[in-house]
Amino acid sequence: MSLIVQKYGGSSVANVERIQRVARRIVKTKKAGHDVVVVVSALGDTTDDLIELAHQITKNPNEREMDMLLSTGEQVSVSLLAIAIQHLGMKAISFTGPQVGIITDRFHTKARILDVNTDRIQKALGEGQVVIVAGFQGKTVAEEITTLGRGGSDLTAVALAKSLSAKHCEIYTDVDGIFTADPRLVPDARKIDVISYDEILELAALGAKVMHSRSVEVGKKFDVPIYVRNSAHEGEGTLITKETKKMEDIVVSGVALMEDEAKVTIFDVPDKPGVASKIFARLADANINIDMIIQNKTQTKKTDISFTVFKNELGRAMPVVNKVAKSIGAGEVTCDENISKISVVGVGMRSHSGIASRMFKALARKKINIEMISTSEIKISCVIEGGKGKQAIREIHKEFGLSKK
Ligand code: ADP
Ligand code: ASP
Ligand code: MG
Repeated sequence: MSLIVQKYGGSSVANVERIQRVARRIVKTKKAGHDVVVVVSALGDTTDDLIELAHQITKNPNEREMDMLLSTGEQVSVSLLAIAIQHLGMKAISFTGPQVGIITDRFHTKARILDVNTDRIQKALGEGQVVIVAGFQGKTVAEEITTLGRGGSDLTAVALAKSLSAKHCEIYTDVDGIFTADPRLVPDARKIDVISYDEILELAALGAKVMHSRSVEVGKKFDVPIYVRNSAHEGEGTLITKETKKMEDIVVSGVALMEDEAKVTIFDVPDKPGVASKIFARLADANINIDMIIQNKTQTKKTDISFTVFKNELGRAMPVVNKVAKSIGAGEVTCDENISKISVVGVGMRSHSGIASRMFKALARKKINIEMISTSEIKISCVIEGGKGKQAIREIHKEFGLSKK
């Protein structure tokens, strides 16, 4: 008997009717002869609502307590789904992440999974149960509850699929699969049938929220086939798999927009060895993630350094930057939250040239100014003025002929 891991996102279990629809789908899979392990997210916008409650008290809530709070969301959905499956006459049991031994490091609100102990799941499967596991959560070796970062239920699902040697992992969401761009922003975006781990990894990291990027990392590392499908109807969806030669023919697979970053600039930084190292070491010590960095040599002995951080870490980043700027004798520090980052991704970029110039041309046509640029082997990203993202993504999508045929 083969084992399948299915994950249902928040919108797929937003209310009782949808939970019942999901329960019917699970029953069907089980009756087709598969063992099923299900991972669920919190109902609808529960996680946002819980964060909002904490923010009504303080903008900087304690991260351990946030994990205590946020992990409650998934506990509601797993138990309701178990009740719905039992009501259909099938055996089902729900567990929290800590109960099934999902062990993480101790970085609250963005913990990484270190180990998964599958004994309890295997035992329940052996009893013929459908096993339902709360997504997005785990515990440290010291029994502290942790969460895996927004969208982290995908990671729970892929990690379980790997640990249980599942045939594959199915991610059920509210769109038909992975598209050439977010279909909410680009209505004529096209569904992709097969995409490589590397491409969706880049797209996810660059703002395509359809998959949690670390979940794809785990899928790639352990070669777990992942299907992304719509929970509302049948359909093959998108298969995420290893890169094939044929994929290289497609120059640009997708376009992504990220609105979660802010730009920090330190002016008049002394232009000498060791300065950048000092700045970024301080930020790393504070566990603040840095994305793009730009430094330009000027004709004076000073230089300006700009970099981007996540908006939700800006509050922690600024005091660190101000302090280090002072200690190295730099000038003013500014931050700009009104930016967007637009990116194009495709494995075909390795063998095709001229992609950047086409992207810049599309932005120029819409008179959109580029503030920062970064490239890698399979992606090009531009930071542009905030508020222009939607216009930019549509124009670039059009430029690369990605729309429905
Ligand atoms: P879930 O709650 O099921 O995890 P998410 O909201 O995390 O769902 O992810 C699904 C959403 O991702 C879609 O509704 C869509 O708006 C968005 N999305 C962003 N980029 C893409 C893309 N390239 N393809 C498909 N969906 C995308
Ligand atoms: N409920 C969590 C969130 O909204 C995890 C998830 O949905 O994957 O981020
Ligand atoms: Mg998600």
